[in-house]
Amino acid sequence: MSDTALLAVLLAAVAGLLAGGAWAAGRRRGQERQRPAFRSSPHYAEGLHCLATGQLEPAIHELDKVLRDHPDAVEVLQVVSHLYREVGKVERAIEIHRGLLGRKDLTRAERAHALASLGTDYRKAGFLDRAGLAYAEALEVDPRNLHALAGQQKLHEEQRQWREAYEIQTRIARMRKSDDGLVLGFLQVEMGREALRAGRPDAAEEAFRTALSLDRRVFPAHLALAGLWLEREPRRAAQVLESAIADAPERAYLAFADLQKAYAGCAEPSRFAALCERLVGQDPHDWRARLALARHLRDEGRAGEALGLLLRALEANPHVLLVHLEVWRTLRALGALGPEEQRYVATVEESALYVDPHICTACRYRADDMLWRCPHCHEWSTFVEERVGPAAAQR
Ligand SMILES: [Zn+2]
Repeated sequence: MSDTALLAVLLAAVAGLLAGGAWAAGRRRGQERQRPAFRSSPHYAEGLHCLATGQLEPAIHELDKVLRDHPDAVEVLQVVSHLYREVGKVERAIEIHRGLLGRKDLTRAERAHALASLGTDYRKAGFLDRAGLAYAEALEVDPRNLHALAGQQKLHEEQRQWREAYEIQTRIARMRKSDDGLVLGFLQVEMGREALRAGRPDAAEEAFRTALSLDRRVFPAHLALAGLWLEREPRRAAQVLESAIADAPERAYLAFADLQKAYAGCAEPSRFAALCERLVGQDPHDWRARLALARHLRDEGRAGEALGLLLRALEANPHVLLVHLEVWRTLRALGALGPEEQRYVATVEESALYVDPHICTACRYRADDMLWRCPHCHEWSTFVEERVGPAAAQR
């Protein structure tokens, strides 16, 4: 399901929930509080259809038509304001939410939702203080409002207040009965890094260990833990990194540089080659292990073997620029390049190329490196290597 389709479903669910709540509240009070008249509008159905097919602007257009005939339709106002925020018209969203909050006939749930939404408007607009106030007010109205709690959590993350973010995320997980170990683990890693910067390595180690106890897939926790011992106890660091690779072989390449250092520290550099060979054996498409092994061989003066490895890596992944670059370097080491070719390779090496593209699976943000937290949608652990060309289809 695409993000927008998911959004549509969520919004429809929110609208249904709010409408249901309002209807039930009306029944409880013994009043006829019938808002759902707007649902018979053809523009409402059309608006939801646009939403489900990811057409946000047309959805706004249709739902605005519903509001022309039913200006009091709280559910539609909530959905439209959300859409305005999504398409970057935050001011309009703020205006709608303020208008809603000025009304006297909102249920508790509706008021809390509007306040939480206003908080998110402010957060998106960069008014972090106001966002915090709006979320707090939403939680005063309804202490279990998940939207406000999730907003507060993001607000803390954005301000790098990791402990506060962790505490709220724990509360959210308890309330939703969801397993948020991965996110909680990443937050622990950040708390550990902070402790390390403050000169408290013991607290840092504890945080990294907690992260791994929450979810073994929190790869930076393995890296950080190994980093604590890399200089003084390389054997211990190597063990940590090896177990990280066993847990997540697809992330192995992120541990290569430290592992190479650790093996060198143990005076056993050949173990690195053995590890790469094992990884290549496990997954013939693993061009990163081949690349690392080729570099290792070249450094040992075995450029001919390195070239063979790289050519096999190219067969499986012809689109990977890093492998091409490494082929040129290896040819240079073999003395196969004349002065002009050497100049060409030097130019390529100095260029800021888009050599190792990664993409966020949540919002399609592209980066030239592996990132643990998306700078665009702020989700954790969403980046994967972007595959293009024939190799993408083979995987
Ligand atoms: Zn993203």
